[in-house]
Amino acid sequence: MSHSPERPVEFVCENCHVIYAGTVFREEGGGHRYEPPEECAACGAREFVELTQYPHAAAHTE
Ligand SMILES: [Zn+2]
Repeated sequence: MSHSPERPVEFVCENCHVIYAGTVFREEGGGHRYEPPEECAACGAREFVELTQYPHAAAHTE
């Protein structure tokens, strides 16, 4: 395995649509996953959707 850089999962605030790079959480067994921020720094909302699942963003990328 090489050290190819990995693009972090990005999350979109459902309220104001600001995009955040996910925070890396190490998992047992050496894996990791990305988590959205606890709350939006811009509007305080706690609802996030993965950018890849974001309907408007995904509409033209597939
Ligand atoms: Zn927001």
